[in-house]
Amino acid sequence: MSARLVFATSNAHKICELEAILADAWRGFEAGCVAPMSAFDVPSPVEDGVTFEENSLIKARALARATGLAAIADDSGITVDVLGGAPGIFSARWSGRHGDDAANLSLLLDQLSDVPDPHRGAAFVSAAVLVTPGGEEVVRRGEVRGTLTREPIGQGGFGYDPIFIPDGYRVTTAQMSPQEKNAISHRGIAFRALMPAIVDYLRG
Ligand code: IMP
Repeated sequence: MSARLVFATSNAHKICELEAILADAWRGFEAGCVAPMSAFDVPSPVEDGVTFEENSLIKARALARATGLAAIADDSGITVDVLGGAPGIFSARWSGRHGDDAANLSLLLDQLSDVPDPHRGAAFVSAAVLVTPGGEEVVRRGEVRGTLTREPIGQGGFGYDPIFIPDGYRVTTAQMSPQEKNAISHRGIAFRALMPAIVDYLRG
């Protein structure tokens, strides 16, 4: 099947998560119908929005324009209550180096070292968007609340997964299987909400 949809990310973890979410939510899913951004020679746009939704739209609009295909994007991050919602849209570059997951996580743990357990509330947030070549834009938000540990625990996932325990669980999202994480994750919620628009587009 030739790709009719392109995903605005170069994060291999996000691509795997999205394929699993699509395959789960849509029986017509075939590997190859969603191309990664790396399949095209397209420069990443400057993400200068101030919300997850704005940055997600910036990425998808640029990719739809450059490829002529429908584009989906997700902008996501972690928001920490005592930090007033930071790192938020700066999650991927909190330590100053974009995409340095270990440094980002370590800095956040250091910043929260004196914060007692009852005040370590946080949320993973994702804004997932679909932008069609015709200019239709659909935006969906997913959020999962939890608390932050004091040390990284678990080997799975990426980013801040080793320090995030979702409400109602005793393990971090890095200790969950990909299926368990997708079932409750911010990206799972946002992309499942976006799925009817994606399927409509692919069927159309
Ligand atoms: P984005 O690629 O610009 O959306 O940046 C997302 C950043 O937020 C990642 O680099 C991670 O640091 C963090 N993040 C987003 N989703 C997750 C997740 O599911 N688990 C752990 N960290 C995440």
